Amino acid sequence: MKKQKARYSARLLQQTKPTKKTYFLLFLESMTDCFLNIFAIKTGLPRQTLPVPVIFFRYFIPVFLGALPYPAAAQSPCLAGRLAERNAMRFPQLAQKRQLLHKEMEPAGIPCNTAPRTVVTIPVVVHVLYKEAQENISDGQIFSQIAVLNQDFRKLNANANTVPPPFVPFAADVELEFCLAGRDPSGQLTNGITRRQTDWSNIGDLTAPDGRPRIHYAELGGTDAWDTEHYLNIWIGSIGGGALGSASFPGAAPPEEDGVIIDPRYFGAIGQVTAPHHLGRTATHEIGHYFNLNHIWGGDSNSCDDDDDVSDTPVQRSAYLGCPAFPQMSCGHSAMFMNFMDYTDDACMSLFTLGQKARMRAALTTARPGLMGNTVCSSTAVQESPERAGFHLTPNPSRDELWIHLKETPTLPAQITIYDVSGKVWATQAARESTASIRMDISALPNGFYLAALTSGASYAVRPFIRSF
Ligand SMILES: [Zn+2]
Repeated sequence: MKKQKARYSARLLQQTKPTKKTYFLLFLESMTDCFLNIFAIKTGLPRQTLPVPVIFFRYFIPVFLGALPYPAAAQSPCLAGRLAERNAMRFPQLAQKRQLLHKEMEPAGIPCNTAPRTVVTIPVVVHVLYKEAQENISDGQIFSQIAVLNQDFRKLNANANTVPPPFVPFAADVELEFCLAGRDPSGQLTNGITRRQTDWSNIGDLTAPDGRPRIHYAELGGTDAWDTEHYLNIWIGSIGGGALGSASFPGAAPPEEDGVIIDPRYFGAIGQVTAPHHLGRTATHEIGHYFNLNHIWGGDSNSCDDDDDVSDTPVQRSAYLGCPAFPQMSCGHSAMFMNFMDYTDDACMSLFTLGQKARMRAALTTARPGLMGNTVCSSTAVQESPERAGFHLTPNPSRDELWIHLKETPTLPAQITIYDVSGKVWATQAARESTASIRMDISALPNGFYLAALTSGASYAVRPFIRSF
């Protein structure tokens, strides 16, 4: 399936007898390659997005003047790969363990093995670390993230219908759901959220002198993990340099550091979130890594020769940014840039594939079995799941009116609130005990993406919808 790049050097060497000119052109090509690779690595930009004039004026000249122009931004949106490399150096024994795990996960990850299975609910604890008040994100913002995960991993996302037709047969319901843990490791009732003010700025990517990431250790200004065998730990902390998040692959971090880190500006779909990564897809992407998914373009070598080890995602040279128009060709294939494991904008991501599902489910049963069969979700005070926490919206997208259909008699007091993605409230309506459906007039709302939140007694649930004319 992989298509080799037709290199000029290969064509030259097929010619009969190399001449001086051939060697000169080969030298020129290898120098150009070398520079392109160095600049791509230094800038964190995909190589294919670097036009030659830009490289020359922005990077080539400044290098000779002694400084790259954007050293602080020289970072990928996602640090999962860098974290894996750093941990492989810190803990050589982990690399071995990961290799063994990888072998074990392989047979279970056969893409055709995609028969429906039991939906597994993953218990989540969110550790909020903040120095400034605005980094101390609200409970509502956290709930909205759990809601987005429960959409994306169940193929219930509002933009699932935007998957381009050729990829529709591959779009998967991963059959994973997420809940905020209702009990902590000692059995105490909790809402699954911890909060701590820290002295450290940008704690999301800070290491102590001994190499340990501060965010994972209370003694270093962070918060200790909850038993990482039985909880998915998500730490919220600002990350310097423009990265959005990070995650540990199965077996690639010591237990105290196992989980996901997300910058508060990119966690959730309401409140303190920043476009174009304001719809909760950073956590979807990072949890993909946590369950062993690679970036859709494979490694970071800007090559068609490395792959993400998933057979139904087309080979792709490197990341796509922004919101490209379909189709985009890469390595001779139509690129699946709208996959959650690419770098496109949140609004433009829409699917995991069946092959990715198989890989994630294999990682769950092989490397993270402690997350299955949990009992800490059932006693939670804050329950969120499309199947349990009960309401759905019709029609979606909506034009003038939105119907909220409740599955059960609401526990009073109950009300529906409509937020836009900045957290602004557009409408509220109380529900009565006898209410089965609530009609809301949304004709005054501008076109866009909204969230309907139901509070009923102590429970809270969120559903996204689109308002369009
Ligand atoms: Zn990533």
